Amino acid sequence: MYVTMLGTGAAFADPDRAQSGILVTLDNGVRYMFDCGAGTVRNMVAANASPVDVKAVFLTHLHHDHICDFPLFAITGWMWDRDNPPIVLGPKGTKHFCDSLFEGGAFDSDFRARSAYPLRQGNLEAVRPDIREVSPGLVYEDEDVKIWCDYVEHIPREISECFGIRFEAEGKVLAFSGDTSPCAAMVELARDADVLFHECTFPEAFVEFRKKSGVGTFAHTPPSELGKIARDAGVKSLVATHFGHFESTNPVILKAAEHHLPTDLMGPDMMHDVVKDIRIAYDGPLRMAYDLMRVEV
Ligand SMILES: [Zn+2]
Repeated sequence: MYVTMLGTGAAFADPDRAQSGILVTLDNGVRYMFDCGAGTVRNMVAANASPVDVKAVFLTHLHHDHICDFPLFAITGWMWDRDNPPIVLGPKGTKHFCDSLFEGGAFDSDFRARSAYPLRQGNLEAVRPDIREVSPGLVYEDEDVKIWCDYVEHIPREISECFGIRFEAEGKVLAFSGDTSPCAAMVELARDADVLFHECTFPEAFVEFRKKSGVGTFAHTPPSELGKIARDAGVKSLVATHFGHFESTNPVILKAAEHHLPTDLMGPDMMHDVVKDIRIAYDGPLRMAYDLMRVEV
């Protein structure tokens, strides 16, 4: 199997990175998607993959940078003759989110206009997703894969549950953190994984800045802690992702970041600091994700 990084950015609209999204493609061609942030569907097509071939989507939590492209994902599948409902796994609230989109929801006009065409009436199930709100444990199994999840610590659970994931297929194990501050559950999910894909949203100084700023969550994993997680879990390799715009030089991002980030520190050099801090504890194979990066497993 191989993994395609569909989006490696975070909550801002960023010209250099789409929001969160990871696509797993098995040797038999079946695909599974983890998160569906803005720009990920476009990148999926750029990677020569079709939403039609994605069997299941796991939404780790309901922050916009993980779900923005879900309507596009489903409507594209419908337009492109998908003949079955996509399976959607996610936290409590996933059903409400999906049920508010298509028939009778935010895209009702689109639904009514498009379903006037006889061809589109033949595959309405493509926009009637098979939604499964999950709890920690083994949450999905088919002839090819097993998926486990557990709570990670990002937003208060009463607002949105946030999941980390362990994915097993072809005798290999992948782990995906979603968004989280360092937590024991993620170390266990990633135990001995072949590849851990873990958020690395802000460099150390940025986490400190956000603790004091009062805008947005600082419940992310600083690079030095990420190194410890990869080491303690004994992973065979690490891919850091979900970068919070700290390397951007875009003037619009810099202006928007005034209250969110220490803009005087922003720029491409920050990525070197992040690598250095991960390396304090972890000396195994390490890759810093970029959009459309392909990881062979
Ligand atoms: Zn996020």
